[in-house]
Amino acid sequence: MTQTHFSTDNLARFYINGAWVPPASDRRFPVLNPATEQKIGEIRLADIKDVNAAVTAAKSAFESFSMTGKEERLELLERFLEVCRRRAEDLACAMSMEMGAPMTMSREEQAASGIGHLESFIEALRAQEEREDLGNGDTLLREPIGVCGLITPWNWPINQIALKVVPALATGCTCVLKPSEHTPVSAMIYAEMIHEAGYPKGVFNLIQGDGAGAGSIMSSHPDIRMISFTGSTRAGIAITRNAADTVKRVTLELGGKSPNLVFADCDIEERVAASVRECMLNTGQSCDAPTRLLVERSIYDRALAVAKETAEAIALGDPAEEGDHLGPLFDKLQYDRVQAMIEAGLAEGAQLLTGGAGKPHGFETGWYVKPTIFADVSNDMRIAREEIFGPVLVILPFEDEAEAVRLANDTPYGLAAYIQTGDPARAERVARALQAGAIHINGGAFNFGSPFGGYKQSGNGREGGKHGLEDYQEIKTLHHA
Ligand code: NAD
Repeated sequence: MTQTHFSTDNLARFYINGAWVPPASDRRFPVLNPATEQKIGEIRLADIKDVNAAVTAAKSAFESFSMTGKEERLELLERFLEVCRRRAEDLACAMSMEMGAPMTMSREEQAASGIGHLESFIEALRAQEEREDLGNGDTLLREPIGVCGLITPWNWPINQIALKVVPALATGCTCVLKPSEHTPVSAMIYAEMIHEAGYPKGVFNLIQGDGAGAGSIMSSHPDIRMISFTGSTRAGIAITRNAADTVKRVTLELGGKSPNLVFADCDIEERVAASVRECMLNTGQSCDAPTRLLVERSIYDRALAVAKETAEAIALGDPAEEGDHLGPLFDKLQYDRVQAMIEAGLAEGAQLLTGGAGKPHGFETGWYVKPTIFADVSNDMRIAREEIFGPVLVILPFEDEAEAVRLANDTPYGLAAYIQTGDPARAERVARALQAGAIHINGGAFNFGSPFGGYKQSGNGREGGKHGLEDYQEIKTLHHA
């Protein structure tokens, strides 16, 4: 059982202008542990006064922080990295408690991502030329864009926060972070770590709040120059509309319904089993999860048998425990959404291979869901088109490569795609034909420093590494006489 060693005293405060301050707003929101359904704390939902205070601090800090040299910013990032390494266990415990990631995964993937992104941004900043000779007599300057509003989701809380806060600080921007109202504890610790690293006051500010309130106010705020958002396509559209009047830069990392193409020439047992486990990781709450398994007809029945056996071997358990089990969904809200999608799959006539509606036996408390697989799905069913964001896999057969590519691209999304094949020439050909920001070939994993982002309605912009830095920069050209 995990012991928490951190205080939650700052949970009901905001971090503005270098200090933990009482919010102006008295709108309260409970923080719940999804495994126990017990309240673990309470936040205030920021109102316009709180947002303005945070933006004013960031605007004033921008005057001097935007003028700092790269060496000074690198030194601050190195100090921050030291603190991140020291407090990684606190972050892992916080996320396990607030969104239900099992401890081992919370430590090795959720908390570790904060360090991995930070290390790769430090390398990218070191390598970047902020002043570049264009070779035609002109000089290019890369400059921080200004005050950034950063809005993040609950599913990979620190991963998303690091992908936004670190490049903002690395490039000399100042920022206001509004994490998901469902995962405020890890964000509170992140702010404490930035404070400890010694950032000048006002450079980083944290407010807690919801989308309709603080999120909307930030999106239309005249003193915020850029919004970086990760979350649902619905909210991404609302933010873009809200940001239009002030012509802000808006970068969006949105949803996905990523196809996974399984060809007959792959190692079927190994690749199908790994594909099922990857879909279910984080209880299916990953934007780039391979949720649509497209299987070549000649191996379809074999693939179904492996998929069913793999899903049925997945254990569920308490997120506070170590192990490779799955935890609950993050909230009742998500449990209800996932149940509704399982019901939709049944109503549309898909074949339920395993799992199904209702709570798994022995898990009546907590927002647990049965790992579920539907077979014989057609690509026009809701379960094939909409993001479910739970441990639910849909399987569709295809006849040949051309049909596989057509089905894979027949989606409004384009975040990731997966290919399983023993033929490298096919892997390359299919990868080029797929409309997605990341193609994983035979289990190839994401590496820190590589760009992450989507085609089509999965968003715009790329996070991570050198591309992630560029999102936060303006380009200025000097024409010399
Ligand atoms: P969500 O869109 O409801 O909320 C995300 C964040 O946006 C929260 O901080 C929320 O308070 C805020 N928000 C909500 N409505 C808003 C509005 N109108 N204006 C401003 N802010 C608003 O999404 P969620 O349920 O928290 O997260 C799950 C979604 O995030 C999924 O769709 C998933 O695919 C997506 N996601 C995408 C990526 C990616 O990199 N592409 C990564 C993780 C999650």
